[in-house]
Amino acid sequence: MAAATFKTLPLSTSPNSPSTLQALREQLDRLESESLLRRRRVVNSPCLTEVNSEGASLLSFASNDYLGLAAHPVLAESAAEGAKRWGVGSGASHLVSGHTAVHEALEQALASFVGCDAALVFSTGYLANIAVMPALLGRNGEIFADRLNHASLVDGALLSRATVHRYAHNDTTALEKLLAASTARDKLIVSDGVFSMDGDVAPLGELLSLAERHDAWLLIDDAHGFGVLGPQGRGSIASAGLRSDRLIHMATLGKAAGVSGAFIAGTRTVMDWLLQKSRPYIFTTAMPPMLAHVLLHALALIEDADDRRHALMQRIAQLRRGLPGKLLPSTTAIQPLLVGDNAAALQLSAALRENGIWVPAIRPPTVPAGTARLRISLSAAHTEDQVARLVAALVQHSEAAT
Ligand SMILES: *Cc1c(COP(=O)(O)O)cnc(C)c1O
Repeated sequence: MAAATFKTLPLSTSPNSPSTLQALREQLDRLESESLLRRRRVVNSPCLTEVNSEGASLLSFASNDYLGLAAHPVLAESAAEGAKRWGVGSGASHLVSGHTAVHEALEQALASFVGCDAALVFSTGYLANIAVMPALLGRNGEIFADRLNHASLVDGALLSRATVHRYAHNDTTALEKLLAASTARDKLIVSDGVFSMDGDVAPLGELLSLAERHDAWLLIDDAHGFGVLGPQGRGSIASAGLRSDRLIHMATLGKAAGVSGAFIAGTRTVMDWLLQKSRPYIFTTAMPPMLAHVLLHALALIEDADDRRHALMQRIAQLRRGLPGKLLPSTTAIQPLLVGDNAAALQLSAALRENGIWVPAIRPPTVPAGTARLRISLSAAHTEDQVARLVAALVQHSEAAT
């Protein structure tokens, strides 16, 4: 076998290894000493509220599976059916030969679900977020971005090479000043709809009126609102009752939808333009058609999931009642408990783990320095008893800390 001729290179710091290897090791050690080293936990079960991880059975408040669809038997069945009908791979990018009838149907269903003319599907939300700004703006454009926007929006703005102005979180007065001072022809305002690490909702109506007044695009990332907020889970934009040709919707399909992928929706003209110019749509393999097949079923479940959304809202209210004054002001499934110090956040997360509860500690650079937190995320699949267990554990640990 030819494979036998490949030798594994030793990982070492022998005199032949590059000096940069040593530098990397030192930087990793420094991250660890500052409680900033990240590590993965291996999970040995489907994404449910009770998971098995590294030998422990844990009650999880760590996923974005807000409606409890990620391991839904109907969707697992649909995946098997999708693989039988479509195979497992698309074989090519959308513009070459990978755009199947089921991708087409999914794009149409998503567009009509959020009330837009057209939509394009992407393999991940990260790709969708680096797709729009570089296609709509060039070097002479200006982007106005909320300071707490998701990293993928930060990267999308950078890739566009436009000038980026970051405004204080949800501060529409600061945003208006920046817009008034701008001389650019091409302008775009960009914001999370629901902020991923704070759980609060952007002032969408005000953002849209500013966009209209200053002739700017408005790009809203609804990763955490889609499926959860608005009538039938149509998202934060529908919840605010907004419609506009200058509004560009983005949402992910790996959170409330329980699968994987993302989409951009808007007017036909903007989608036609993205199809020509958007590199993360053009130069990548189309998502497996079997996933598009599952996503059509997930969308139908979302539309029909008022009971799940109701259960989720009840769990949110229960958690907030149990921990008065301790959580950041959020009405969504993301309920952060601000700790501040990195090591203290890790310790609290570890203490909960000892009690069989998984709540991740979120540290910089995901959140600003000095604002490390526990990010509790709730799901419609959590029971009242499970939330009560979390409340009791947090009350016990915060009493121990004071
Ligand atoms: C998760 C997330 C993304 C990225 O989506 P993926 O599909 O996971 O790549 C983008 N924006 C926000 C606000 C997110 O929370």
